[in-house]
Amino acid sequence: MAAISKPIAAAQQRRFDTQQLQALDSAHYMHPFTDSAALAKKGARIIVRGEGVYIWDSEGNKIFDAMSGLWCVNVGYGRKSLADAAYRQMLELPYYNSFFQTTTEPSVRLAKLLSEVTPPQFNRVFFSGSGSEGNDTVVRLVRHYWSCLGHPQKKVIISRWNGYHGSTMAGASLGGMEGMHQQGGLPIPDITHIQQPYWFEIGRTQYPHLSKDAFGIEAASWLEKKILEVGAENVAAFIGEPVQGAGGVIIPPKTYWPEIQRICDKYGILLVTDEVICGFGRTGQWWGCETVGCKPDLMTFAKGVTSGYIPLGGVMVSDKVADVVIRHGDFNHGYTYSGHPVAAAVAIENINIVRNENLVDKVRLETGPYLKQKFEALIDHPLVGEAETCGFMAGLVLVKSKAPIAMFDSALEAGMVCRGHCFASGLIMRAVGDRMIIAPPLVTTQSQIDEMIALIRKCLDLTYADVKSRGWLG
Ligand SMILES: *Cc1c(COP(=O)(O)O)cnc(C)c1O
Repeated sequence: MAAISKPIAAAQQRRFDTQQLQALDSAHYMHPFTDSAALAKKGARIIVRGEGVYIWDSEGNKIFDAMSGLWCVNVGYGRKSLADAAYRQMLELPYYNSFFQTTTEPSVRLAKLLSEVTPPQFNRVFFSGSGSEGNDTVVRLVRHYWSCLGHPQKKVIISRWNGYHGSTMAGASLGGMEGMHQQGGLPIPDITHIQQPYWFEIGRTQYPHLSKDAFGIEAASWLEKKILEVGAENVAAFIGEPVQGAGGVIIPPKTYWPEIQRICDKYGILLVTDEVICGFGRTGQWWGCETVGCKPDLMTFAKGVTSGYIPLGGVMVSDKVADVVIRHGDFNHGYTYSGHPVAAAVAIENINIVRNENLVDKVRLETGPYLKQKFEALIDHPLVGEAETCGFMAGLVLVKSKAPIAMFDSALEAGMVCRGHCFASGLIMRAVGDRMIIAPPLVTTQSQIDEMIALIRKCLDLTYADVKSRGWLG
């Protein structure tokens, strides 16, 4: 990894007035997905620096970032070549748009590069500034596509409960997070949801007579039921994350996606994979659809495209969809920052790093299998009822007892207790209910995996002792 540059070294020595920053933070900064009053009481943790898989807070604590920020810092922190790419492009041309028959070199070169690293049906991209915007584009694009073909009524989009597709009106509507729907009158019209293919929570408890693979087929059949209920003539598309991320790293049975594909083909419905997390190597292939076995018509991407160094998102558009839309004149849609040249320059350099360092092959063949072996071995811990990985995404479930499996009362928020111990022990691990999840940077080495697993074990032990002393183990 590149040596730390001089200005960064200087920043390391900077002193931060933690209390002052926390006071200003609670006075002026409304955080996303945050109970601001509760946060004001304890003060936000201020992250000041990153290098490789580690970040540091303003008090000098070193933290292993097993979440890659928010699933995005795939090539790790402190990459000078990404900063250089942005700097060079900012001096040369910081901004120009692509609205009025103009374009910029980095956005063109990135579009070409994306068509090289995506499955063969994709030769065109529509750029956005984020994953949420990308999914807004998906909604516009699939409805416009069917309208171009003379089926303007074909506009219902089917997605899944506990899926995550972003936080704009369309993104949150596509998503199946009920807490989000409750605020702001969502979902918007013509979006409907089916249940997720979550074996541990749904398959194991409601379909105990089915094998995991048979449950995958059953879960896919819910799509067919929904299509018949809505009427295929009204359904534009199905959208899903190949592996659900924010929902808790829900890894579907391997039978699920091929069956989803068969159903979409049978009824003539567009298939969209939201690859905002799964794209760019997270699952051990370039794209999640390659790992789970389907051939989407559109793919949303963001996060890993720039490793989070600068905002960028977009939608890969298959020839099937692009040819129709292009034949029909203007597509009345776009963002000021569609194809932003600085973001594109950073994305190009980021993709070059992923390629030159063979990060996708490494995750598939070396570090991913190693993580699987170590992480799935956590099942021997008395608190762990399930532990599974897909590439560099992993989830485990905290349980009250293992034989038979009994869950904690959800109101106790055992996951948050565990997350607290992780934070205090220098590990970022996220809690989704009582499912603890990680998605480490793709550059994480075997010895760093050992270090991370040791931290996870330590935190599980601390959590065990904690919940036991609270009397939660019964
Ligand atoms: C993060 C995420 C989004 C939203 O991306 P933003 O850049 O936060 O708008 C959409 N889909 C998935 C699968 C995500 O994980």
